This record gives sequence, C-alpha cells and structure tokens, in this order.
Amino acid sequence: MLDFAIIGGGPAGLTAGLYATRGGLANVTMFEKGLPGGQITQSSEIENYPGQLEVVTGMELMDKWPEQCKRFGLKHEMNEVTKLTKNSDIFTLTLGSGENVEAKSVLIATGSVPKAAGVKGEAEFFGRGVSTCATCDGFFYKGKDVAVVGGGDTAVEEAIFLANICKTVYIIHRRDEFRASPHEVEKLNSYKNIIQILSHTTEEIIGDNTGVTGIIVKSKETNELKTLDVLGAFIFVGRDVLNQTLIQDDGTFLCDTNKSGEVIVDLKMKTSVDGLFAGGDIRIDAPKQVVCAAGDGAMAGISAIAYLQ
Ligand code: FAD
Ligand code: NAP
Repeated sequence: MLDFAIIGGGPAGLTAGLYATRGGLANVTMFEKGLPGGQITQSSEIENYPGQLEVVTGMELMDKWPEQCKRFGLKHEMNEVTKLTKNSDIFTLTLGSGENVEAKSVLIATGSVPKAAGVKGEAEFFGRGVSTCATCDGFFYKGKDVAVVGGGDTAVEEAIFLANICKTVYIIHRRDEFRASPHEVEKLNSYKNIIQILSHTTEEIIGDNTGVTGIIVKSKETNELKTLDVLGAFIFVGRDVLNQTLIQDDGTFLCDTNKSGEVIVDLKMKTSVDGLFAGGDIRIDAPKQVVCAAGDGAMAGISAIAYLQ
C-alpha cells in the first residue's frame, strides 16, 4: 500500500515526489511510462525557467531532477498506469504490466500530447515526413526545405530551431498574426530562411512512397491554392490533455473535468475526489509552463501530506 502514488514523471510529478518525500512521506512511488522529465525534454531551448541563466535544451534542464527526488526517497517505476479507480478510501492503479497497486492518495500529472491538425495526409505520412518533434526529427532534414504548421509559442520556437538546420522553413499560420509571445516573434522575424505564410490554411500534406513531398496551402483572402515543395511537415497546433487513466468502466471520469477533459482542481490541487490531486498541464487553466507545473507539483505534494495526516 503506497502512501502517495504519482502518475507521470514530468515537472509536476517529479516536484510532487520531491516535496512529498522531503516532507516526510515514506512510501511514495512515481509511475512514468517513459524516461522521467516529461514533454519539455523535446524542446530545443528553454530560456524562461527562473534562475537558469544560460539557454539550455529541455534534456539539460531536466537532467538532475530525478536524481534530486530519489535522494529523498522517491521511488520510480517505469510503467504505464492504464486505469485508476477508488473503492471506499483506497485507490487502485492498474499498470500496463497487468499488476494492480493500491495507494492512499494519488496525483495525476500525466500532462499533454500534441494535437493533430486534422489535415488530409497528416496521419498517413506520420513518421514518414510528418512530425511533432523538431528536436527529435529536425536533423533528418539538414539542408532541406520543411514546413511548420501553427502560430503559437511551440510553432515559432521550433521553426527557429529548424531554421538553424534546414535550408528553408515555411511557417504556415491560419491568422494574420501569431499567437506566440512578441519576444519569440521578434526572433522569428530576424531569420532570413524562415518564410511566413500568414492567413493561409493547410489543406493537405502530399507525398509518395518515399514520404512527404509537399504541403498544399490556401489563401484565406483569395482562396488561391499553392503547393510548397517540402520534405518535412512539423505540426504544432496545441496540446490535448492525457486523461485516459481517469476513465472508468462506464465511460465517465473518476473526478470532475471541464468540456475539454481538463481536470478541475482548487488552489490546493485537490480534485472533486478526496485524496486525488491533479497538477501541471492536465489541470484547468494550466499556463502550460515548466515552472507552473513544478509549482502545482509542490502544492500537490504538500496537500497529500496534509490529507494523510
Ligand atoms: P508533462 O511534461 O507532459 O509530463 C507528463 C509525463 O507523464 C510524461 O513524461 C508522460 O510520459 C507521463 N505519462 C503520461 N501518461 C502516463 C500514464 N498513463 N502512466 C505513466 N506515465 C504517464 N514550458 C516552459 O516553461 N518553457 C518553454 O520554453 C517550453 N517550451 C516547450 C517546448 C515544447 C516543444 C513543448 C512540447 C513544451 C514546452 N513547454 C515549455 C511546456 C512544458 O513542457 C509543459 O508545460 C510541462 O512539461 C508540463 O509538465 P507536466 O508535468 O504537467 O506534464
Ligand atoms: P497554442 O498556444 O494553443 O497554439 C496553437 C496554435 O496552433 C495557434 O496559433 C492556433 O491558431 C493554431 N492551430 C490550432 N489548431 C489548428 C489547426 N487545426 N490547424 C492549423 N492551426 C491550428 O499551442 P502551443 O504553441 O503548443 O503552446 C501550448 C502552451 O505551451 C501555451 O500555453 C504556450 O504558451 C506554452 N509554451 C510555452 C513556451 C515558452 O514559454 N517558451 C514554449 C512552447 C509552449 P490560432 O492562433 O488561430 O488559434
């Protein structure tokens, strides 16, 4: 029987583990289906984590977090939690390995995943020219032409990352101004090999048996279609929360969520179910920042201690 089970090993889960163990809980396990660190490990540069003066990659930023948590007794199990249920006061976590684990309190910190743009050819060519990770796949397009779809911080930052590797980067955005922060847009504007295709929708990703060969865009002003000859299409159009673990046998969620499936929490990261906490990208109104996810994790760790007392 665990005192506190943490589902997800990103900034929220790791920080919850640090605060819970350092705050005196003896039996805390963090379940992470991959390597700890979370989605930020896919980012090419972080420059807004407080106290971190040098611009670092996501991998570099997260490198020491697991080691620091383990020092205070956090256990890490590399396993997916496929289901979470509660009977009287006890939670049961069903693991990908088929085993069940019981816990007195739980934090769900499973974060978010890239949203699909819903464009023709996107699914067909995924992994064969279509990607959602520039750090992972950018190198395959060294000296070649690629397109980025989206207008938020991720699209703009990753377009800049790709511009340092690729010959030309087209950034296709459906409106005439970016959603990304002005600071990032200013940087984007300084790149001569980034071509901004604003007020255009992405109609189709085309290709053949070698992979992607182009992307068809349509002007919102003139309806004119044009094909950009690119070998890679990077899609960054937002994120969906990963909440499947909370789905019960009858199809309802274990705790209250909003219409987008984001978990409703209060300022102590408590959900509508006693002993169940949520934090990081999965919660309502998440600013989707490492520092905020870490803050949620700290609060959830402290709240779990109070709940168990
Ligand atoms: P995540 O980081 O998503 O971690 C969740 C973890 O849970 C994952 O490791 C996942 O494998 C695991 N998991 C999911 N489901 C299960 C399950 N069922 N069982 C076990 N494990 C599970 N933020 C900034 O502050 N600055 C930036 O510059 C910045 N740049 C970014 C660039 C990119 C490309 C991306 C994608 C994000 C960026 N962000 C940035 C946002 C930031 O990464 C997130 O807000 C933050 O990582 C959220 O942390 P989290 O712990 O809530 O979730
Ligand atoms: P986002 O901010 O939600 O932006 C998504 C972008 O994709 C928007 O420009 C949106 O257009 C566009 N879009 C959405 N659906 C589309 C579709 N079907 N087809 C074409 N375009 C579509 O997502 P994000 O950029 O991934 O960022 C997520 C969160 O992480 C944000 O809170 C962001 O600030 C944060 N983040 C922060 C940093 C940083 O701090 N440096 C870096 C990365 C991410 P519209 O603008 O028209 O809606």
